[in-house]
Amino acid sequence: MDALDAKYPFFASAREAVAEAAVSLPELVAADAPAVERARERVERALLEGTVASESGAFPGESAYDTQAELLSYPIARILVSLLDSAPAIEKYAAAEAATAMERIRRDLDTDDELRSVSSATVALDDLLAEFDLAGAVRPDPGSPAGVRGGAVGGGSGAGSGAATVGSGAGRDSDHYRIAVGPYLRLTSPEWGDSWRLVNRALADGTVRVSRDELLAALEAAVEDRVADGLPFELAADEGIAAALESRVADLRRLLSERTYAEPPDVVAPALFPPCMTNLIEKAERDAALSSAESFALMAFLVGIGMTPDEVVAFCADTSLDAEGIRYQTEYLTDERGTQYPPPTCETLANYGICHNEDDHMQVAADPLSYYEKRVGATDEVTDWRAGRETDEPSEA
Ligand code: SF4
Repeated sequence: MDALDAKYPFFASAREAVAEAAVSLPELVAADAPAVERARERVERALLEGTVASESGAFPGESAYDTQAELLSYPIARILVSLLDSAPAIEKYAAAEAATAMERIRRDLDTDDELRSVSSATVALDDLLAEFDLAGAVRPDPGSPAGVRGGAVGGGSGAGSGAATVGSGAGRDSDHYRIAVGPYLRLTSPEWGDSWRLVNRALADGTVRVSRDELLAALEAAVEDRVADGLPFELAADEGIAAALESRVADLRRLLSERTYAEPPDVVAPALFPPCMTNLIEKAERDAALSSAESFALMAFLVGIGMTPDEVVAFCADTSLDAEGIRYQTEYLTDERGTQYPPPTCETLANYGICHNEDDHMQVAADPLSYYEKRVGATDEVTDWRAGRETDEPSEA
């Protein structure tokens, strides 16, 4: 078992490492090994905070868990989420595994070559493309101003791509890439926004031009698909490992129901928003693109305070966020089939560089929504942005 497998437990090599390890998951669960507690944390944080990173610190190095516990927590987490018996929980779990992996991947890709050569726990873009059978389906765009640095992509039959092979050599430092149409359509969705529709894309020789960020978004979708694949497991609830995990599953269900029934303030008072959210809104108003973590945090907050998808679209009308992308994300967040996806905590936002803990108000609340609730509660007269909007709308008479 190596640290790279533990960091990316959905890789084929990680699955092999678990299969080859002389450990039995039922025995680990019976012994209440550290991997079991880490698996519970993995699922809890995925469903409540949109991340599977350990609260104890980043793996490897800062985390309280060693390589074995970190790696084995993944198959146990998959059993736990299967036992929750909820399709939205599986979706949310897979999305959180993918979002956390993408944060790690971005950091790995930013690691310079010298450091990478002494650390085996970092992944290169070439490895990722090969992992998802995309090595032959992605290449740097020849017109990209940044050019290409780094090694050529090895092998890669492109068998999983379902499209023409477009050649190898996708070095990691290009600004833009060309991806074969088949994988593009399989990994992206028009629901992500107009700009993702094929008709709005530069097409040439059966390939689509994408930016580096867009390629990473497509790879995040590939991770999500890989994690969700095969879930839920068919497990008899009262037998074997399922019976041994019963109390952990009950704890997770209780926690989810407590969070689900928390009443949002249901008033939109931008002047009382916490600084992290104001900063994100101001950034989007300057027409700067928000990262996926930033846009998730903002959308989860706006939905958390009771705004409908239509209201969020109107609220963000003069920003870099496009209406279709907002609609897709907010409708997902307000999913009524299961637990709402609560906004990330202040700690998670600090890890993503979104929170700067202005005026030390992390002392006041654990998450932006609670902070906002407190500010609303402490203010005598609160003007709802929606009230102003209603009077602006033309009357139907
Ligand atoms: S402490 Fe929490 S509420 Fe305050 S800026 Fe940071 S994330 Fe936002």
